[in-house]
Amino acid sequence: MLRVWTVTELRAALQSMPRPVGLVPTMGAVHEGHLSLVKQARSDNATVVATIFVNPTQFDETQDLEHYPRPIEQDLALLESEGVDLVFTPSTDEMYHPGFMTTIHIEGPAREFEGAARPGHFDGVATVVAKLLLQSLPEVVYFGRKDAQQVAVVRRLVSDLDIPVALAVMSTIREHDGLAMSSRNVTLSEDQRRAAPALFLALSAMRDRYRSGMQNAVQLKEGCTALLTQELLFDLVDYVALVDEETFIPWGGTGSCLLVAAVRMGSVRLIDNVVLD
Ligand code: AMP
Repeated sequence: MLRVWTVTELRAALQSMPRPVGLVPTMGAVHEGHLSLVKQARSDNATVVATIFVNPTQFDETQDLEHYPRPIEQDLALLESEGVDLVFTPSTDEMYHPGFMTTIHIEGPAREFEGAARPGHFDGVATVVAKLLLQSLPEVVYFGRKDAQQVAVVRRLVSDLDIPVALAVMSTIREHDGLAMSSRNVTLSEDQRRAAPALFLALSAMRDRYRSGMQNAVQLKEGCTALLTQELLFDLVDYVALVDEETFIPWGGTGSCLLVAAVRMGSVRLIDNVVLD
């Protein structure tokens, strides 16, 4: 596995690598969720590029950015073990050189939920994803459905800016107790970690109700909120909503429906979703 730090090195390396190229953008602290994207990219492409960049512009809280885990050596070993060919680990200055003045702002799917709770977050995501795509020009880029709103935002970005890339969206990988894997899970206290699966359990209970015929959006939302409120370590149920997976507007009864939710435990924010099918 070749490691590069600059856009110039990345482009030079890619020139001699076979197509198609699959890109897996990450912020590091690699776990099985990231590796599921890498495995899919490996089976679909001749070349797999992974990026590790903790993008400061998508953090709305400095504390969160400062405490974000950065086990770089372990990350490199994991990516290499899954057959990544090229890893791009730019510095912040390499991505945002002095004088950087461009921000991509997306309306629609970026407006509510995570967009409302984390001002500027999706501007940061859209801008860095656009840069990574233009820097590496992959045939396919891989994202996890765990961050379903991010996927909807990136889908909009790629379509609106005519970026010639296919989007591959992979299922959420979970711990044994159902908690969605996340780089931030290591920041949970023991008690918080024990309580955290209640988010997925509530979403799953509503999926079961939906499958057994209870398909009223208001009742599903209220049922999920009630379950989440019962978990005493959840300080805030930030939102629960049924949305169209593609657009993130309230689900209108057709298309793929996602039940999405976010809760807060102290300074930790957990998000998750299930497909209602
Ligand atoms: P991050 O490093 O958190 O920015 O995540 C990098 C990519 O991995 C994003 O496309 C995420 O949606 C995806 N990802 C993160 N956690 C999971 C998970 N538990 N299962 C599947 N994909 C994930």
